[in-house]
Amino acid sequence: MAKGKINALQCPECGEDGSQQYYRYCRKCQQPYVMVARDKREISGDFDVVDWFSSRSSAGLIVEDKRSGQQYSIYMSDVFELIKGTRLTGCTLEETKKGSAYGWKVITKEEAV
Ligand SMILES: [Zn+2]
Repeated sequence: MAKGKINALQCPECGEDGSQQYYRYCRKCQQPYVMVARDKREISGDFDVVDWFSSRSSAGLIVEDKRSGQQYSIYMSDVFELIKGTRLTGCTLEETKKGSAYGWKVITKEEAV
């Protein structure tokens, strides 16, 4: 089944994917990336949560595939969909106040006395 196309940055010379890169050009070929419509990629495996990201428009988790060391950014809406229904066992929550908003913060088992 076709997964569809995605507009992505690619090196016109060696075909390296530039979408996840910080630089706007291929450091190997010194060529600026060009926008191409290519097939969407798919990666299966186990992913470790290593960091998170936040910008004005989005936030999410950064997960790493330990086999390749490759990191992937997952948007929070998809993270929520993934962890929805997950039970956080043995947690202690403590009331907190951020500005005028009330909420709860998680106190880990180790910190709770
Ligand atoms: Zn290149």
